[in-house]
This record gives sequence, C-alpha cells and structure tokens, in this order.
Amino acid sequence: MLISTRGTQGVTASQAILRGIAPDGGLYAPTAFTRFTLPEIEALCPLSYAQRAARVLSALLDDFTPEEVASVTEAAYGASFSADSAPAPVRTLNGNTHLLELFHGPTLAFKDIALQILPHLLPLSARKNGVDAEIVILVATSGDTGKAALEGFCDVPGTRCAVFYPKDGVSRAQYLQMATQAGHNTHVVAVEGNFDDAQTGVKRIFANEDFARTLKARGQVLTSANSINYGRLAPQVVYYFSAYADLLQRGKLRPGEPVHFVVPTGNFGNILAALYAREMGLPVGKLFCASNANRVLADFIRTGRYDVNRAFYKTDSPSMDILISSNLERYLFELSGRDPAQVRAWMASLAREGRYAVPSALLARLNETIVGGWVCDDEGQSAIRHALHEANVLIDPHTAVAWSLLTRHRKATGDKTPAVIVSTASPYKFGHAVARAFQLPEQDDDFACCRTIARLTGQAVPERITALETLPIRHSAACAPDAMEKTLLELFQSAR
Ligand SMILES: *Cc1c(COP(=O)(O)O)cnc(C)c1O
Repeated sequence: MLISTRGTQGVTASQAILRGIAPDGGLYAPTAFTRFTLPEIEALCPLSYAQRAARVLSALLDDFTPEEVASVTEAAYGASFSADSAPAPVRTLNGNTHLLELFHGPTLAFKDIALQILPHLLPLSARKNGVDAEIVILVATSGDTGKAALEGFCDVPGTRCAVFYPKDGVSRAQYLQMATQAGHNTHVVAVEGNFDDAQTGVKRIFANEDFARTLKARGQVLTSANSINYGRLAPQVVYYFSAYADLLQRGKLRPGEPVHFVVPTGNFGNILAALYAREMGLPVGKLFCASNANRVLADFIRTGRYDVNRAFYKTDSPSMDILISSNLERYLFELSGRDPAQVRAWMASLAREGRYAVPSALLARLNETIVGGWVCDDEGQSAIRHALHEANVLIDPHTAVAWSLLTRHRKATGDKTPAVIVSTASPYKFGHAVARAFQLPEQDDDFACCRTIARLTGQAVPERITALETLPIRHSAACAPDAMEKTLLELFQSAR
C-alpha cells in the first residue's frame, strides 16, 4: 500500500501510478519498505538488468503479479533498450571511483530508464482499475523528462502526452528533441517562464476540479509523468541495486561494504530513489546531493531552512535549474517519522511564503545520510576537463557537478569509501557547454560543437543528435504560465 505524504490513506501502486499526485496535493509513498537481505542482493549478480528490475520492482509494486512485473521489465529493458549497451552500465574509473551511466536510452538522459517502462505500467494500471478513459500524461520538464516522456508514450494506444518546458531554459539539443517529436498523441508547449513556473502550472492543473470535469466529459483522465508519480520513482530504485550488484560481481565491493552515491540533483527524484534503495537494505554509505548555482538544496542541507526567495540562475546544467524540489517532500515525510500534519505545515508555508524550516533534530538525522554541496559553472567546466584528461571519460555538465562535489569531499576529508558518480546525460545533449569547457572556439551552432568534441575524444556524435539537424519542427505552441489550461484544451481540440 501507499499513502499520501499529506495524510490521505491507502491506495495500491497501480492507483498511485494512475493518479500521479494524491488528491490532497501530497505525493504517494510506500507504507513500508520491503528489505532485501545480503544474499538476496548477491543473487541479483548473475541476472540481466530486466531480471534485476523485476526483483526490485516486485517489492515496490504491491498489486502487480510477478508475471506482470516480469513482462513490463522485459518489454522496457529487454530488446527495445539501446542495443549496444546495457540500460545502466557501471564504468570503473579507478579502484574506488565508478560512473553509473544512465544515458544509454533513446533520449540520452537518465529519464529514459523510468519513461521506457511507465508507458507499460500505466495502461496496465488502467486495466487493473477498470479505467477506460484516454490517459492524458502532463509533464513539466527542465529539458530531459519531456523528451523521454514523448518518446516513451509516442503512439501508445489510449494515451496522450503533453509537455511544458521553460521557453529559454533548455539546451538547443533538448529543444530540438522535443520540437521535432513525432506521434499523433504528442503535444509540446513552451512556457514563457522558468521550470518552476511550468511545474507550478502543471500542479495547478492537477488541483483544478473544473478542468478534470472538462476532461472527463471528453473521455480523458489526467496523470503525471514527472517524478512526483510513484511510477517514475520505483524504476529508478532499480539501478542503485543493479550498480551494487555489478560492483559485487566484479569484486570491486565486498558483500555488505557500503558505497557512496553521488547524485546531480534538481527535483530530488533521482537521489530519493537512492534513499529508498537504502531503506530497502542496500548498503549505502553517504548520499551526495550535488546542486548547481541554484543551491536551494545545498543551503537546506546546511541550515535546515528551505527558502526559494532568491535569484534564479540559468546554468550549464539546465536540467537542475530548479528551486522547488518536489520530491524532498517524500524525504521529509520519512524524516519526520511519517507525520503528515508536519509535512502539510511545511508545504503550506512553502506555498504561502516560499520558505519553511525544520527542527535541528530532523536536520541532524538528515546529515547522517546526506552530504550536500553546490558547484558553480567554472568548477563544473574544470571537472569536465579533468575527467577527460585524468580518467579518459567525457562527462556532461550535470555529471560534472557531481564529480566536483566528490572530488572536493575527498580532498577535504580523505574519505576512501568507494563511490559511484551517477552520470545522468550524454555530453552531446549539451554540446555548447562542453565545448566551452575545452576552450574550443565559441561556435553558435551546437552541432558544430558536438563534432568538435567528438574529434577531441575520438568518439562519434550519437546518431540521435545528428538526426536533429534535419528533422522537421512539428511543435511550436507557446503560452504564458497562467494560460496553460487554455492552451492544452486548444491543442486537444485541434488534435481531434
Ligand atoms: C532531471 C535531471 C537531473 C536531476 O534529477 P532530479 O531527479 O530532478 O533530481 C540531473 N541531470 C540530468 C541530466 C537530468 O535530466
């Protein structure tokens, strides 16, 4: 069973996946975590990623049969995932530093891992609950979720996918990936604002009962493909177990030995999945929450005060340009001893004043597990150079934020615990920023940047990127943050 962080009781996993967000505005969280014993974790070693996913997801999706779970994991991670690589391979850089590469899916960012499986989970959830309406998947994206959702739901019968992205807040490749999206059931809208405006607008649509009635009359129901949806979160728990199994199998870890995970963080979804893995018995050392200049989380981890009343920066890592990290609510729920009244009070304060503060005892518990820190663009660029020159690996600007934080931590503390840096995107999605890191000539064209970087590294530019240069633009809608409902209805109308 799952419960809302704000108190509403009891839904199944399939109901949580269908709804996206709880009716009281909270996020669904498991009532209890199934713990894996060490032998059960070791038993993951010989399995394929799809099989590992089936084991871990069975523990998280209560009302799906083992056969159903196995069939969706096979469909998502069997043949259809990138042929030349496992979905989430671990690359060892030196004895105790590893990269968990999560960008081998069709849209070259880690969002694929969940959004390749959600389009199988959602229709199954609808069938289980006797829902036969068209499922409308609403997405607010800081750049990567949008494309991954569009790709995952493209032409999936019984679904329609609408994405809102911040107009000037995504990279050129991210924009083109979305604007060129095929499919009869896909919609893309530029919001004249930043990611927080888009995310707040989507949350407002979910809370709008009139809008829900209008859709219902049209035979449609809403859900979310953002990491507020439990169906996004659960598949992300898998790769932490899988990475541990890979390291065990290669003798890089002794059974039970703790490992740090270093996670470039925006909406707190990826790192929350690591926290869930830890609750489920994975031997995790510390979790590093790495922020860019939008350092609201780093400040919170240091002071216990969450405050969005601050400047918003556009950085080299746009997918982390976020001030309202939705999934932190799920962690606060755990840290408060699952006290929904407390969570409601913090979230009300956040909505009203843009800030809240947690008691020092709670902050102390948080600091036992989480190390926070933030990294400016210059330091990130130097990490990109360092990674290529010292470790012969080309990393993207988001991964660079995590890389910098780990480097800094090890220098300051001498900590030799094995660490896995979570690598969240292909560098070719952010050609401009990567080229700048190598002081390559400032070129306007991201494609030219990508070709130059490719020459530097002797790799080829991924085909999914080069293809963007010639694909036709299919989506050009734009709107103000307060016109998102109206724009959606117009798009749905004209799609009929
Ligand atoms: C979404 C994203 C992040 C941030 O992940 P959260 O789950 O929002 O914390 C980091 N890097 C990349 C490349 C992303 O697309």
